[in-house]
Amino acid sequence: MSSSVWSALSTAPAVGGRNIAVRAHLPRGGAEAEPVERTVVVLEADDNCLVLPEAVVIDPLGIPSLDSLASTHPAGGGGPLAGMEDRRRAREYGVGNAAWHVQRGLRYVASLLERPLPVLTVRLNAHGADWGGGHYRLPAAQYSELIEPRDVASAGEVHLGAGRRYLPIGAGRYFAAPSHNAAIIYHELGHHVCRHTADFRGNRHRDPAAQTNLRTGIEEGTCDYLAAVLLGTPDIYGWHRGDRSDADPRRRRLDTVTTMAAFRGGRDVDPHLDGTVWATALWSARLAWQACRLEGAAFDAALLRALDHLGQEVLSADPAEWTPMLRRRRYFSTALAALLDEAQAQPGAHAGVSAVETAFAERGVVVGQSNAALREAARR
Ligand SMILES: [Zn+2]
Repeated sequence: MSSSVWSALSTAPAVGGRNIAVRAHLPRGGAEAEPVERTVVVLEADDNCLVLPEAVVIDPLGIPSLDSLASTHPAGGGGPLAGMEDRRRAREYGVGNAAWHVQRGLRYVASLLERPLPVLTVRLNAHGADWGGGHYRLPAAQYSELIEPRDVASAGEVHLGAGRRYLPIGAGRYFAAPSHNAAIIYHELGHHVCRHTADFRGNRHRDPAAQTNLRTGIEEGTCDYLAAVLLGTPDIYGWHRGDRSDADPRRRRLDTVTTMAAFRGGRDVDPHLDGTVWATALWSARLAWQACRLEGAAFDAALLRALDHLGQEVLSADPAEWTPMLRRRRYFSTALAALLDEAQAQPGAHAGVSAVETAFAERGVVVGQSNAALREAARR
């Protein structure tokens, strides 16, 4: 684990509430650490809802008593092949594990932005018993899949499914419950960060009940990057996608050499895969920054402030003019220029800024170009 993440967290401002012991774990690449006792600050709780200062965690199947969260057990993730008791234990473990990771991630971001984000709603066991995914949802007029059975909070919601498949882990198996998987939790939390900083789709200018959930490569890549920082490993999905080769783009390792030549762009392309170019460039830039004896958290602060800066752009009063403005905001080069500006403002960062610029250039990302122009240059 990056020591800078821990040190930034230890200086996070104290908030009110009661310290509750939970059990949680941090998967590191392919290795799954044992859960250990952690502390979550809880404001209040009832049968279905745990209220933290940063988030509201809702489980329609029930929130265990606060006193029992310290003794939960992952129980192999539960799943349909487990007995009733293990299924209950696994579900209750997911509540404490998700709450701890959500609070930890949001506190890290708030400590660097020097302001809290709007309260995040986290729904566990969302979308029925057969959904194994995670997503971030904003209220919209329509949804591409999985319609919402109730109003979605206008600030945004992370939905984590019950799980759908077993993973082979060593000689055994583990039911891939998203609430047990910190990588999924941190990636989805990253969307909340993007929505309330760079706001790549201009949602803050839309009707709060009719925002858009369309995502772009730069947002998906930023989410993977934040997941890597918070997990302390570039192999963010090594646990539940460990059966895919390191080079498989769907593994989404951040320590692979991926350049703009691999960028595709366009509506029909999976933005997660295009985002890998941005995520891997950020990761290599962070390593180059740290090689200049600068704190990783200072680089993360520069990134978050750069994203915040992008989101402060005033859009035209005429929504018809938003498209080109928002397209420019989503260019990797636009975000890089903002990142370099913010990095320059960090103390003693001169060598670090050059190292960051070089790391991005090695991936084919330089300032002042559209994504398509960067791609064409990288392919030549
Ligand atoms: Zn995503």
